[in-house]
Amino acid sequence: MAALEWEELLVSMSHELPQPVKQEPGLDGAVILVGGDPADVVVRLTRSSAVVSEFAVDWEGPHEPVTRPIRFGSVRWRQLESAQALLVLNTLILAARESRRAKYRTCRFCESVKPPEWMHADDVCQTCAETRLGVRY
Ligand SMILES: [Zn+2]
Repeated sequence: MAALEWEELLVSMSHELPQPVKQEPGLDGAVILVGGDPADVVVRLTRSSAVVSEFAVDWEGPHEPVTRPIRFGSVRWRQLESAQALLVLNTLILAARESRRAKYRTCRFCESVKPPEWMHADDVCQTCAETRLGVRY
């Protein structure tokens, strides 16, 4: 029984997340990995815990998107045997990704599939709302 090493955890999470993966420094030495473009899943890693969240955006005003990830689970990865830790983390990543993907919508004008924060309405994206419907942002 051996726990994961920090480097090993970083590499595995970068592989398991939807690609491409962006790495950002967090507060207190944490590392934040954001997977997908547009972003789908966020994993926040510290030396003791790993928190898996679904990427989500709230609008505080028409021009103020605020990132508010929805937490799916947190794992004390050092307390687990490495295979178990990875199994739990991978399951959480998949669940967060599916939940996020289920919120994507197809625009009836340009037919592209976009995340909810890029939509003007359920079936019209912001770009088409501006160009086709004359909505001003
Ligand atoms: Zn559109």
